[in-house]
This record gives sequence, C-alpha cells and structure tokens, in this order.
Amino acid sequence: MADQKRDYYEVLGVDKNADDATLKKAYRDLAKKYHPDANPNNKEEAEAKFKEASEAYAVLSDPEKRRKYDQFGHSAFDGGAGGGGFDFSGMDFSDIFGSFGFGDIFSNIFGGGRTYGGNSNGPMKGANIRTRVDLDFLEAVFGCEKEIELTVKETCSSCGGTGAKKGTKPETCSTCGGKGQVVRTRQSMLGMMRSVEACPDCQGTGKIIREKCPDCRGNGFIPMKKKYSVNIPAGIDNGQAVNMPGLGDPGRNGGPRGDARVEVRVRPHEIFQRDGFDIFSNVPISFAVATLGGDILIDTVDGKVAYTVKPGTPTDTRVRLRGKGVPSWRSKGVRGDHYINLIIKTPDKLSKEAREALIAFDKLTGDSLNAVANETSKDPDDGKKKKRFGK
Ligand SMILES: [Zn+2]
Ligand SMILES: [Zn+2]
Repeated sequence: MADQKRDYYEVLGVDKNADDATLKKAYRDLAKKYHPDANPNNKEEAEAKFKEASEAYAVLSDPEKRRKYDQFGHSAFDGGAGGGGFDFSGMDFSDIFGSFGFGDIFSNIFGGGRTYGGNSNGPMKGANIRTRVDLDFLEAVFGCEKEIELTVKETCSSCGGTGAKKGTKPETCSTCGGKGQVVRTRQSMLGMMRSVEACPDCQGTGKIIREKCPDCRGNGFIPMKKKYSVNIPAGIDNGQAVNMPGLGDPGRNGGPRGDARVEVRVRPHEIFQRDGFDIFSNVPISFAVATLGGDILIDTVDGKVAYTVKPGTPTDTRVRLRGKGVPSWRSKGVRGDHYINLIIKTPDKLSKEAREALIAFDKLTGDSLNAVANETSKDPDDGKKKKRFGK
C-alpha cells in the first residue's frame, strides 16, 4: 500500500527544503483547486486530490511528523504497529482557511466516516475512541501484553438500539423527509456554494424519537466499562498507537463499529535513550582501562555484554553494538543498533596510596602537576604578572 502513495513533497509541488509559508501557499492553492464544490463534475476525483493534499500538508507542516517522514517515508505513518490510514484528528486547518467555509468539508471528508455529498442516512462506521497506556522502556522495546479499560457503547437491549421507548417506533423526520440531510447555500471563498449538511432536527438520522427509551435515554446504546488485553508489538515508540478494530462507537444504520486506538507513552529509561530503532547510552570506563585497554561489561537491553576496550582509547569514543537496538515492527528479524559513548571517569576520591601512586605516575609521564611551578621558577618576575584563574 505504502509504495502506491505519492511523495508528499511531490503532491504539494514543493521541494524538500520548502519553508512553512511555501507549504501553506501550495496547499491553499491545491485546496481551492480541488475543493469538491469547485469540481461538481468530478467530485470524487477532486475529493481524493483534496484529501491527498491535506494529508501531505498535515504531515509536512508539523516539524515532528515531517522529520519522521523525511526519515522513514510513508511507512512512518502506516501504523505497522496496528491501524492504518492517516489520522487527521487533532488537525487544525482553521489558520489556513479561516472562516471561508472550509470547516464543513473537513467534517464531511475526514470525520465520522461520512463522504462528501453522500447519503448520510446510509450505513456509517462508528467513531473511533482513544485511550492511552504507559509502558516501561523495555516493554516498548520487546513488546508486551497490557490490560486496558475501555468504555464501550453496547447496544441497548431494551430498545434494540433504536432509542425509542418500548412499544413505540422512531418517526420519519419531517424537516428532511427522512433523508437525514438538508441543502444549504452560503458565501465562501469560492463564491456562493451549495452544500449538503446533516439535518439539524434529526442530526442526520432521518428519524425523530418522540418517546425516548428510558434505559439509554434515546441513545440506543449504554456505555459499559470493559477490560481488554492489548498486544503491544515489539519496537513501538512513544506516541504510536495500536489499533483495536471494532471496539469503537457503534455504527449508524447498520454500519460497522469504529475502532479503539491505544496510544502508548513510554517512560524514560535511567541509562538508555532511544531514537527510532537505535539505542544510545554512556558507558563510564576507568583511566587505566582507557590507557591500557581491557574488558568491560556494557548494559544493553539484552543484558550485559563484554567489550574489549582498545589501549589508548580517548574519552567520548563511540562504539556501535550492531543489532543490539530496538526490534523493528516494520521488518521482522531486523533490529537497530546500540551506540555507546565511552566516557573516562575521573576519580573524585583516592586513598593515600592511590594518590601517591598517581603523583609518582605523573612524575614519570611529563610531571604535569608541577608544570606551572617549573616554568615560573625560570623567571620569577614573569610568574607574578601571570593572571591566575581557578583556585
Ligand atoms: Zn434503549
Ligand atoms: Zn431530519
């Protein structure tokens, strides 16, 4: 699926370094061009283009999403960790379109699973619901099973989901004649526009309930708290979500249920940091090991591994432990790497013997402890003029 998608930069017709203003302008132009109301003869195609441009803009205008896209391409949003399709919820396009009457198109195209100009009285998929789960660093790395509680709307058994009191039936809405939608005309940036909207009297259902079912207050469903076990795939990262199909809100008019999206929050680790599938950590080594070389034990997500430090290793030396990173949820069997920084630890407490040994060592390797004294003793006047920093 992913490789059929066009490149986002190509969709907007901008180059990879385009700044915010360029992106905004490109998107605005495309949105005007492909607004379904401006294309009455090929609405579907226009809508598809509009959606494509909106998705591209949604990603590229968000620095974090853009960075991920530049790094991973479309697969960054494939939801290989569950789910699929692009998630537009939480997007705010109002600064682009202001009050030009674009609000409705977003709710029509992207919200509630309703298609623009479609029959809102037909089967509609229910809304997705969201929840969040906290994971430890290692739980995210290797995957785990978590219990979550969801408030799931169950069909009311008293009214069978109609919302009408037992013995009564919903009536056909007289405002829309049961169609569930009304036509409205208004001014927009493209001139006068006719748009089809959900009927305000029946909220698009085409039906009016005179006597509501007392058990569900006319909603047709009853919210119930339920526990579910969710499989968190190995390699999931902070902010990604697992999709649980069919656990969202009930559909309307026989449509399928929405999905539950479980977003993960990963707690930071004491030692390890993570970037994508790679892990980073600092590993302290002694001056002796750095100088003479030697074996050390390094903490990895797989436990401790032995590593041989080369003689004469400077501080801040980076070492790659290949395949010791995070398992990829995109490609099975592939793991990132673990990069370590070898940091020479300076002792802050020394025994008397160790101290003397170090002084002796220093004498043998350049006498750095007495370098200033030795220098100034050659010319006493010069020494007084020198400014002293530190203690
Ligand atoms: Zn009911
Ligand atoms: Zn109506």
